[in-house]
Formats: sequence, structure tokens, C-alpha cells
Amino acid sequence: MNTSGSASIKEVFEKQKKQALKQRLTTAEERIALLQKLKAALPGIQDKIIEALAKDVSKPTFETHYMEYAGLFGVIDLTCANLAKWMEPEVRASAIDPNATVEIRPEARGVVLVIGPWNVPFLLAIEPMVAALAAGNTVIIKPSELTPHTSRLIAEFIPTVFPPEIVSVVEGGVEETGELLKLPFDHIFFTGSPKVGKVVMEAASKNLTTVTLELGGKSPCFVDETADIDRAAEAIMHKKTINGGQICISPDYILVHKSKEKELIGAFKKYIDQFYYSTGSFEGDDMSHIINQRNYDRLKGLYDDAIANGAKVAFGGTFHEEDIQIEPTILTNVSYDSKIMQEEIFGPLLPVIPYEKLDEAIDHVNKNSKPLALYVFSQNENTVETVISNTSSGGVTVNEGMLHVFDPSLPFGGINGSGMGVYHGIYGFRELSHLKPIYKASNGPLDESLHPPFAAKMKEASEPVLS
Ligand code: NAD
Repeated sequence: MNTSGSASIKEVFEKQKKQALKQRLTTAEERIALLQKLKAALPGIQDKIIEALAKDVSKPTFETHYMEYAGLFGVIDLTCANLAKWMEPEVRASAIDPNATVEIRPEARGVVLVIGPWNVPFLLAIEPMVAALAAGNTVIIKPSELTPHTSRLIAEFIPTVFPPEIVSVVEGGVEETGELLKLPFDHIFFTGSPKVGKVVMEAASKNLTTVTLELGGKSPCFVDETADIDRAAEAIMHKKTINGGQICISPDYILVHKSKEKELIGAFKKYIDQFYYSTGSFEGDDMSHIINQRNYDRLKGLYDDAIANGAKVAFGGTFHEEDIQIEPTILTNVSYDSKIMQEEIFGPLLPVIPYEKLDEAIDHVNKNSKPLALYVFSQNENTVETVISNTSSGGVTVNEGMLHVFDPSLPFGGINGSGMGVYHGIYGFRELSHLKPIYKASNGPLDESLHPPFAAKMKEASEPVLS
């Protein structure tokens, strides 16, 4: 364990528990001041973020810049610009007595545990923290141990911005997370795999702690016979290979109308060439490596199993064991029974599966766990509507990839197997708040119609009162 400061996990938690009562009473100005302090400090570690991510996952500098760093400024600015409005209680006349007043007041939840993943390890530790602080909570962050340089950076950075009673960092892996999960947090915000999401939810249930679970899953991508194939291929191939395919909302596999399969594969090849082979050979520096040997071996296993089950390589299939990197790979003739179609791929392998009837493709999606994201490429509004309304997923982008997640005016989260709860913008503020209803009765006489004794009232009523 390595907390920011030398205090034990329990001591940090107790300190925050005390502070939480004060923190919830802070004004919008005071919370904005905290966030502005964070914003002012970020440029000081920009190079360190790039360096840490390069060491942890060989992430290209450009990708680190826009995925882990630049976006945070927009998140902070949007929160600061709207926080006073978000914090305002909604006050109106009661629906049961026009002389009474009701209020819905966003109340801080208290002490929030943020558990981060390795795939976007800086942003996905800091962004939930911003929402939690905006909502008046204190925060303990547990970054992923699989990205140790980024974890260390967060642990060193946070104490330079916030006192430990407001934000602390606990570094470590399963053991430390297990210790944290025993504590009666007021809320846990977890980003990671569905498998560990279950562990978190089970632990949270012991204390009846509320949870936000930002998980993953197999996000399908529909391409119908009316789609603009060139556009679809460009958008899908870019989104599939960001971070080496290790993004929770990466297009996981393609369901394409069989009349367009060949054209789509041809267009995929064109864009893979354009993105990663512009000098004639693979430019590995522009694509993140696989996080670790275990995941590299897992992906190799998925690939080998697909091939053993009859899959054909339409492009790629080159694995660089020494750098644990995989070149963008397109697989056709993939059996639904192969392992690559059973688990989230989380790497640059892309199965392309043709369908004859849209219903078949929809049925396949509905047989499996609800995905985090779903993509539809089509110029036919009926197809788009049919897919959206007959499937369930965390969110949908039409004729592009990932944009429903990048737009902060939309809630982001999964459903069932892909998670629960949402954040981004006002939705994050509300998720990290308890929306407390308050009823302020009028000073008029009390309604005695339901008070005992009941005998006379039962007789008076023409029908039983509680039928
Ligand atoms: P993970 O579930 O392995 O780890 C996430 C966190 O849980 C880490 O901090 C880790 O230390 C901790 N952890 C791991 N095992 C644990 C255990 N047994 N008990 C307690 N804590 C434990 O996830 P990951 O591999 O870091 O990330 C990849 C997964 O996260 C993918 O499924 C991806 O789709 C998902 N993800 C989702 C989002 C989202 O916003 N929905 C974003 C990024 C990643």
C-alpha cells in the first residue's frame, strides 16, 4: 500500500468521513476554486503524463495528449460554468397541496471511492473525481496497478493540489482494493471489467454502498446495404485502433449486410494502410501496445481459436511478441461459437460477420450481454430506428464511432452487463449526489381524514377506504 502521505487506509478514510460533513456544505464558489486549482496544476505535469503513459502502455504522445490530458480542461470548464445552476435546488408547489412547498436538493453523498482502470488510467481516475468534488464529496482514488508509472504520478500529483482529507490516493492492486472495499464508503465509482465489477458490487452490498459501474462488453457495429462504406470504414478503423483497440467503447465486431462485405473489407484495408503503413511498413509508434503479456497472450489465444474454427485473415495477423504489439487485423468467416465472439476483444482484432437479414444480426446482439456502445452505419432511417429500438445498449452513435460518449451533454454509462449509473456533465454531478426530496408543509390545518379511530370513518365511506 502507498497512500499519499503515510497514513493508513483506515486513517485516511476516517479523516475524510469527518471532512465530508463540511465538504457537503461548501458553496459553488468554493468547489469551483478546488477545480480551478486542479486546472492550474495540470500543465505542470503534462510532460509527465505523456512520459508515464509511454512507459506504461507505449501510448503515442498525440493520443495521450487528446485522450488523457486535453479533454480534462473541457470537463473542468463545463463543470465550473454550470455548477451553481446544477447545485440550485428545484423548488415548487406541492402536487398534493398547492400551499405546501417541495424541494429537490442535490446533496453530497459523502466519501466516494474512485477505482480506475489501466486503459485510460489518468483521465478515468481524474474525471470521476471532478464530478465527485463538484457534488461536494471527498474522494479516495485507487488507480490501476497495471499502469504503475501513471499510478505513481497520480499519487504524487494529487497531494500537491488537494489536502488528504479532501482527496487522497491509495496505490495498490487486489489486496489494497480489497481492504478499501471493506470500508463503508458512501459511494463507489468503479471503471473496469464486468468480472471485477461483480466483486465490487458484492463488496459494496455488505455496507449497502451505492455504486456506479462503468464496465465494458462487446460493442457491435452494424453496417447495412445503404451505408456509406468508405465513411464507415474510416470511422470504424480509427475508433477500433485508438489505444490499440483497448477502449471500453471500441467497435468490437462488425455485422455487415452480405452484399457489402467485400467492399467494406477493401475500404478497411485502404484506411489501415493510410493510418499505419503510410511509409510502406508498419508504423508501430502510432499505435499503443498491448498492456501486458497476459493480455497479449489472451488476444493471441482468441486469434488462434478463431483460426482453428475456420476464420480467415483478410488483413494483418502479425503479432510482435517482443513489443507485445499486434498489427490491425481483420478476420472473416468467424464462427459465432469461437471465443473471439464470446468475450470482449479489447485489442486490434476485428471480426467481420455478414448477415442476410437484419433480424438475424439483431437476434445475435440480443442473445448476449447488453453492450456498452452500439454503432449503426446506414443511410436508411428505418434501419437505424429498427436497430436502436430493438436492441439495448449503454448508448448509440449513428454513422460515426464513440461520439455519444465524447458529447458531454449526453449521459454516459452501461446497462446491466455493461454497467450501471451514468456520468459526464450534469449527469455526473447528479450521479455523485443524492437527490433529496424535501416537503415543507403549509401552516394550514392538518388533514385528519386518515387519523384513527377508524370505525366511524369506515362506516361513513361508501366504499372501503383502502380497497
Ligand atoms: P479490471 O476490472 O481488471 O481492473 C479495474 C480496477 O479493479 C483496477 O484498479 C484493479 O486494481 C482493480 N481490481 C482488479 N481485480 C480486482 C479484484 N479481484 N478485487 C478488487 N479490485 C480489483 O479492468 P481493467 O483491465 O483495468 O480495464 C479493462 C476493462 O475496463 C474492460 O472491460 C473495459 O471495457 C472496461 N472499461 C470501461 C470503461 C467505461 O467507462 N465503461 C472505461 C475503461 C475501461
